[in-house]
Parts: sequence; structure tokens; C-alpha cells
Amino acid sequence: MTMYIALDEHNNLVNIQQVERGLACNCTCFECGEVVIARKGEINEHHFAHASNKESCTINLESVLHKYAKEVILESLGLMLPALPNSDDEAAWWSFDKVLPEFSLGLIRPDLVAYFDGEPILIEIAVTHFIDQDKLKKIETFKAKCLEINLSNLFKSEIEIPSIEAKKQILENVDNRKWIYPVLEHKAVETQGSTLNIECPAPVPVEPVVDTPAKWRDYKFKVNGIFVNVRKFESGMISVNSTYNPEFIKVLKEWMREGRGSYNPKYKSWNYWLPFSEIIFERINALNDLKK
Ligand SMILES: [Zn+2]
Repeated sequence: MTMYIALDEHNNLVNIQQVERGLACNCTCFECGEVVIARKGEINEHHFAHASNKESCTINLESVLHKYAKEVILESLGLMLPALPNSDDEAAWWSFDKVLPEFSLGLIRPDLVAYFDGEPILIEIAVTHFIDQDKLKKIETFKAKCLEINLSNLFKSEIEIPSIEAKKQILENVDNRKWIYPVLEHKAVETQGSTLNIECPAPVPVEPVVDTPAKWRDYKFKVNGIFVNVRKFESGMISVNSTYNPEFIKVLKEWMREGRGSYNPKYKSWNYWLPFSEIIFERINALNDLKK
């Protein structure tokens, strides 16, 4: 099998188009961990090859997608989530306080544990293996919120991994995820289906997503069709999180140079302080697709 995928020096997935040619790609094999060379010549299709000349490994694409989804969620620190069962909420972007990979909680070892307002949310990423009765029982005992993201359609699609399109599927496609816990209690039919209606956002430009008056307020915007999360702190500082919107990130960088701002690599967020933060907030609001 041809190796189009490898791991970069940060252990993140990359495909052959995204790297420099030769050993300069700084990559290792996804399967065996050996150093690989990016072969990007004129004749053969571009691919990775083991530097040792060893035969190519067979890359398990299901594991690739599984790892990629975890990477993307860890990096974005948030997810578009359907309304919680038995609630009248709408689907919304949830910005997590932190996300931990492969963290054991009692008998359960979910793919990721995200924390929202200090409360853990178990996240399972399923490509071909879904949560079974046995696991469900353990989750129910634990009584923690649990979400399953079903990437089987993405796996069968032509969408490249990694790619912006794949990221969108992982982060924002509310149709490929469901709450495993809490369990939906049966209720009147007329309320069914109404909770997933996110196609027609209210024509309100800015709306707080989560009301946490103690420390901060979260706002969601859409710029160039991609969600941008803004956290406004009591101090007036704002923290802007947009992980895969290159055009917009360029703008955020310019604003950082223009006023007082900084980039926080841990949270992958752009921070601005008063009085400039007010101006930035207005500018993002002006760019907001949701009010158009
Ligand atoms: Zn290998």
C-alpha cells in the first residue's frame, strides 16, 4: 500500500502534499514509527517511504481517522453539539475548559474527556465500533454526559484526511453525533425534531451561549462560514478562538499588531485587552455571518 500519511515532529497527522520533500519533512511512519522520507519526484505519485528502505507499511485508515478526530477536537477545544436530550435547547457550539485524551474515569476509558463548566463529558469517536450495551451500562452507572461521534460516513467518503472539510465534519456536523447519556425520555411528538433546527439562526447578531456571570460570557459568531468563539471576561479582556480559518487568523494577527494583544498557544486563542478589546468585539460582530 502506498503511504500518503505520516506523523510530523509533533506527532500530528500530515499528508504528503503538506510536507517538504525528502528527510526535511521531519516525519515518521504512522504504523511503525520509523523515519520516513517524502518522495515528491516528477515521475511517481508522491508518497512517503521508510528512510531505511524497508517495505511500506500498511496504514490502517480507520486508526488514522480515529487519531485525526482526537487531534482536531483537542486542538479546537470545542464541538458543535446537538441539544441535550429532554431539553428545549438548540444545537450549539460548546467551548470546553479543557480536553484530555485517553483519560480513565472509573471503569470507563473514553477517547476524550472534555470539561465544560468543570463537569466531564465523555466523548467516544466511532468509525466502525460503536458503544455497546456493556459500555452503555458502565456509562449509565457513572452518570456523566456522554457523546458518540459517528464518523463512518466520513470514513466512506472521498474527503481527504487531514483536510479542512474533514475538520468541519468532525467539529460541526451535528447530524453525525448523538448524546448517549443522558438518555432521551419519551415525550410529546410535536417537540421531536424541533431541537435540531439550526439552519435558521435568529437574526440576533450576538447572543450569549452560556451565561456564567461569575467569570466570563461566551459568544459564538460565524466568519467565512466557520464558527468563531469569543469569551468575554469580567476584566473586559476577550479571548478569540478560531483554529482553522486561515483568512480570519491573518486578520487576528494584524489586530494583535495594531492594538494590545497576544496569542495563547495553550488555548490557541487570541487575547485582546481594554480598551482595544471593545473595538475587536465590534469588528468581529460586523463580520458575523449569523446576522446576515
Ligand atoms: Zn512503517
